[in-house]
Amino acid sequence: MTEHCTNCGKLLRGRSDKRFCDDYCRNHHYNQLHRDDNTFLRLVNKILKKNQKILRTLHAEAKPRVSRQMLLALGFDFRYATHQANQANIGRYICCYEYGYRKLNEEDYIIAKIER
Ligand SMILES: [Zn+2]
Repeated sequence: MTEHCTNCGKLLRGRSDKRFCDDYCRNHHYNQLHRDDNTFLRLVNKILKKNQKILRTLHAEAKPRVSRQMLLALGFDFRYATHQANQANIGRYICCYEYGYRKLNEEDYIIAKIER
């Protein structure tokens, strides 16, 4: 029985349980297989980093109170966050890494640096 490389289709020699010619073909095959996962991961990471940068910049400029419109204008994406910080003395913040925001009213948010 002849076997062919799962990646490139070349005829395989040697052990019958081999699926790939070599490390190159094995790596290439699994990289292709996970490419879509990695693309999504990179996209989400990019959005999270951008959100964190926006919160960090506003916090550094001592502008803890911001409107939803301002955040959207800066490119903030409300769909993505890393976690929630629920602390008795500060309320519930939605966080992008170490910075979080909390809704004050329909229009405004307050930004804080959340120490773990
Ligand atoms: Zn191959």
